[in-house]
Amino acid sequence: MIKGSCLCQKVKYEYNEQINEVAICHCNQCKRAQGTPFVTNAPINTKSFAFTQGTELVKEFFSSPNKRRVFCGNCGSPFFSQRTNMPEVIRLRLGTVTEGHIPEPDYEIYCESKSNWFSTIANRPNYQQNKA
Ligand SMILES: [Zn+2]
Ligand SMILES: [Zn+2]
Repeated sequence: MIKGSCLCQKVKYEYNEQINEVAICHCNQCKRAQGTPFVTNAPINTKSFAFTQGTELVKEFFSSPNKRRVFCGNCGSPFFSQRTNMPEVIRLRLGTVTEGHIPEPDYEIYCESKSNWFSTIANRPNYQQNKA
């Protein structure tokens, strides 16, 4: 069982299966939608996903004619994207998960638009964990 919530916690969801696949997406749409240099998402089965609270606040934006991005209309947290020609799958934004196991990422996509200013911080020579 996976549970999740938005930042304001007015919208909550549950997923009644395991997450088996994790992707990192570097596409420009995801970067702008999430305000981050890349996005971690998991393709999951729509039929096992349900909003359990705050459904009336859930909004959607079509970033392209066949792709909707679903988010909290109160705080802006992104929940998932979904293609109209593949409605059986949603791509869950893993930063909203609050309970349940998430495996490590399996692959990266849209690497041609990878943010060139970002590298894995832990690989930097002067990196120190928990530096104040
Ligand atoms: Zn919210
Ligand atoms: Zn993307």
